Amino acid sequence: MTSQAHINVDTRRVKVAIVGGGFGGLCMTIKLREAGIDDFVLLEKADDVGGTWYHNSYPGAACDVQSHMYSFSFEGNPDWSHRYSGQQEIHDYIERVTDKHDIRRFTRFNAEVTGAHFDEQSARWTLNLKDGSRVECQHWVLASGPLHVPSIPNFKGLDAFKGKVIHSAKWDHDYDMAGKKVVSIGTGASAIQYVPHVAKEAGHLTVVQRTPPWIIPRDERAYSGLSKWVFRRFPALRKLHRLRLYLSNEARVLPIFNPRLAKLAEPALKAFIHSQVKDKQTARKLVPQYTLGCKRILISNNYYPTFNRDNVSLVTEGVKEIREHSIVFSDGREEPVDCLVLGTGFIVDPRIYMKDFEITGLAGHRLQDDWKDASEAYLGTTVSGYPNMFQLVGPNTGLGHNSIIFMIESQVRYILDAIGKLDKRGDAWLDVKQDVMDRYNDKLQEELKDTVWQNGGCMSWYQQADGRNTALWPHATFQFMARTWRLNEKDYVWQPARVTVGEKATA
Ligand code: NAP
Repeated sequence: MTSQAHINVDTRRVKVAIVGGGFGGLCMTIKLREAGIDDFVLLEKADDVGGTWYHNSYPGAACDVQSHMYSFSFEGNPDWSHRYSGQQEIHDYIERVTDKHDIRRFTRFNAEVTGAHFDEQSARWTLNLKDGSRVECQHWVLASGPLHVPSIPNFKGLDAFKGKVIHSAKWDHDYDMAGKKVVSIGTGASAIQYVPHVAKEAGHLTVVQRTPPWIIPRDERAYSGLSKWVFRRFPALRKLHRLRLYLSNEARVLPIFNPRLAKLAEPALKAFIHSQVKDKQTARKLVPQYTLGCKRILISNNYYPTFNRDNVSLVTEGVKEIREHSIVFSDGREEPVDCLVLGTGFIVDPRIYMKDFEITGLAGHRLQDDWKDASEAYLGTTVSGYPNMFQLVGPNTGLGHNSIIFMIESQVRYILDAIGKLDKRGDAWLDVKQDVMDRYNDKLQEELKDTVWQNGGCMSWYQQADGRNTALWPHATFQFMARTWRLNEKDYVWQPARVTVGEKATA
């Protein structure tokens, strides 16, 4: 379904503006409505809702978190077809939820934010949009996610390449790979999902691997008609099923702090690789050298068998250069290429959580400067110096073991509590205290030092070049829920609504 733009393009004034119409933005809008706040606008850059699940449509795209967990707790779906669903089914779910809650009428599609600026006098944010219009608001919520700008490696000669280049996040479904010589670079979460499909289509596929991922078998079971009926008829049983999935996922937090537990599983997974891949040398190259869990653990049943196909080869040499119609590897070997597929992930510089537009808060605060070394927030949600600005899936809220939607729901509850408390106090804005935010982040970084992500012998997008991990939450998700259940007023500075000269904010 595509867009409708009901809203005038000049200056719109609302209580809350939400940027990004993926799972986070939708959750925020639904819960705002439930709280009786209809004075908001959802700004979405694309022409439909869905975020990640709209843009990432490469063949085989699917979620590696179980569907009954990877959906809103308040919008259970008894009809999930499989334990793990594909992109289309997830996007259909998002569309259904959007329509059920009548969110489209609050949404401005094709609305790209290009700047956000806070005015202390009026206590209002102004969001500038690409079409020249503006939205003024009291609060705004960044819900555009951390991983969305494709990373295109700076390969020598790539600009001069005359063939087709496709990034996993911008798949060209009209390009016919039949009979083509395809080279795919990267073996992360996206690549291992599309590689088996590309292999079936292409004349020849070369997979270029820099670091092999740990891959565990995927539970492919479909839900039977009877299960779906039971889940529909007895929602409590569906919730029980969800709880069981939640708890089994939560148990996976234990090896994060105890890599020895993770290591126990490695022999079985090595045996799994050797049982799946016939050529011994190829199988050996597919075995990771770092501790299980250091990078995201992937799930697949069809990735390893792909290397048994006659038209697929694995290359572990680096890319030396790209020529007009070929690729040259570090050992000097040259291979002809019609199509280059980049499964090379997303741009994650130290400012991974910052958007690619300017954000200015209280005097002296420019997010590009404040986050030049690392993105830091309080509970991944608020940033000192940026009153009434909230973020969903912000710094250190990513997960290696459970559903991010659980984290989103916790953050949304916290934001609503903030807005409610501000209204009740009759204040103009709230701003997290710098020392509260600093103490929180110092403690988090101390705790992260003991995790498999820092000690597992790998580098991943979880870490910055200096080793600092601003991506992941290292504890159980219920601990995050407990921390965000209610906003502690003492953590914030509260600015009275009408400021008279010389009046100070209250702590
Ligand atoms: P990614 O995990 O960052 O993987 C990028 C891959 O490209 C890695 O194998 C990396 O190798 C390789 N690479 C990057 N630059 C390279 C270069 N210059 N030369 C050779 N290889 C290069 O990206 P992704 O697969 O798109 O996944 C990103 C994130 O999206 C995941 O971590 C996950 O959070 C999310 N995701 C989730 C799902 C899901 O099912 N829930 C599915 C897809 C994606 P190195 O490992 O050596 O760096």
